[in-house]
Amino acid sequence: MIDFTVRRYKKLLQALLNNEYQFQTFQEFIITPQKKSIILRHDVDLLPKNSLVFAQIQASKGIKGTYYFRAVPESWDKEVILEIATLGHEIGYHYECLTTTKGDLELGIYDFQKNLSELRALVPVSTICMHGSPLSKYDSKDLWKTYKYQDYGIIAEPYFDINYDKIYYLTDTGRRWDGHKTSVRDRVNTVFTRKFHSTSEIIEVLNAAVFPNQVMFTFHPQRWNDNVLQWSKEFVMQNVKNVVKKHFFVKH
Ligand SMILES: [Zn+2]
Repeated sequence: MIDFTVRRYKKLLQALLNNEYQFQTFQEFIITPQKKSIILRHDVDLLPKNSLVFAQIQASKGIKGTYYFRAVPESWDKEVILEIATLGHEIGYHYECLTTTKGDLELGIYDFQKNLSELRALVPVSTICMHGSPLSKYDSKDLWKTYKYQDYGIIAEPYFDINYDKIYYLTDTGRRWDGHKTSVRDRVNTVFTRKFHSTSEIIEVLNAAVFPNQVMFTFHPQRWNDNVLQWSKEFVMQNVKNVVKKHFFVKH
């Protein structure tokens, strides 16, 4: 059975539910972290309707997550943003300002402010998350070497405000759960050594009730598809990107 399908996703959610985790938005976790907590983070890089499907599935099970939207047409779908917020999820800004402005800090913070206030004209926003832009040499997190996101009413950014020695981190980068090697920027330092490759491995460990208590999952819903044609299209694109990324950025 192929992995990273919506069907498999539902099984993962059910396994988490069976283990009686609390599902917290990133904002909620920062303010009042629960002992047994799951943060479902979604980076809406493209195909926002896929994220809407995830948001609807979660809502039907009484679960909440956090959705980060980019300020580009392939992510920023006003209707989808409003609908996901209405379902009770948190909306955040997936910023890439130093990529957009080719490393110009002043233009970058201007771009940040402008996009943030446009998003806030739609929904409340209190957390942000960097978009990796793997093919860019600029790291948008560098904005915060000069500026403070707290000055813009932002309470947290997952790459700065989480202790990954305490909170277990999993990301679906490259349609596998141990694809951090091919990720240029979506990587964290951690003491956890357990790695997972497939979603069913995670489900197995959940069924054995030995999964960590506090976990952040990062999903890119455009990678999850029940339609074989769509699934293959994303698969081909991902492999092209990985070859490019390896060539330019990954130390051997
Ligand atoms: Zn992203």
